[in-house]
Amino acid sequence: MQPILMFDMDGTLLDLAFDDFIWNQKLPERHAQTHQCSLEQSKSALFEFYQEHKHTILWYSSQYWSEKVGVDVLKLQYDFQDKIQPRLGCIELLENLKAQGYHCWLLTNADSAGLKLKLENVDLAPYFEVVVSSQEIGYSKEFVEFWQILQQKHPFDPQHAFMIDDTAPVLEGAKRFGIANLITITQPSSLKAARNPLELRYPAIQHLTELLPILAQYQSKDVDVKTA
Ligand SMILES: [Mg+2]
Repeated sequence: MQPILMFDMDGTLLDLAFDDFIWNQKLPERHAQTHQCSLEQSKSALFEFYQEHKHTILWYSSQYWSEKVGVDVLKLQYDFQDKIQPRLGCIELLENLKAQGYHCWLLTNADSAGLKLKLENVDLAPYFEVVVSSQEIGYSKEFVEFWQILQQKHPFDPQHAFMIDDTAPVLEGAKRFGIANLITITQPSSLKAARNPLELRYPAIQHLTELLPILAQYQSKDVDVKTA
């Protein structure tokens, strides 16, 4: 049985360097200009907001951020959209999976506007049967409710599903729901050092095509079980 392959977008298929650049560099700059304060003041004010809302559905809403910090965050992302890039092996992997007939889903915590922006810049959409923003679900992927509602909308067998995501709390949410195969990413942003796979809680890949031998092994085990 072909497993369903569920992919995160930012930091997994796309280079998180863009998001880091927007949120950690450009947003503080624009916030400081807007509010006529120092860059340091902006950074500490934004950092407080970040801590308060991390991993919640609000955290992922550009509209919420725009209202909260007084900067049009979606426009800011459009201003620098030429920096949006796929990660190593992204298209190569997706082409390969498509050729093999895998069912691929794209599950992102980016809001619908952020998802649209990314898909306008990297042509991922044709590779996915299902594309979901957690905004339409009402919970971020860190919450088991996300997976329950997703399954109601798009039935799937969690025992035969893979979730590939760079964020540990998301993988924990998926695990609580019962997704059997969880994979993480060693280097979500090309501008930051790779994480040590031994310190990560889940099997980790660097180049995205490293997923292919993992899938081949999974398929051969599946065959072994059936023929045993
Ligand atoms: Mg991610």
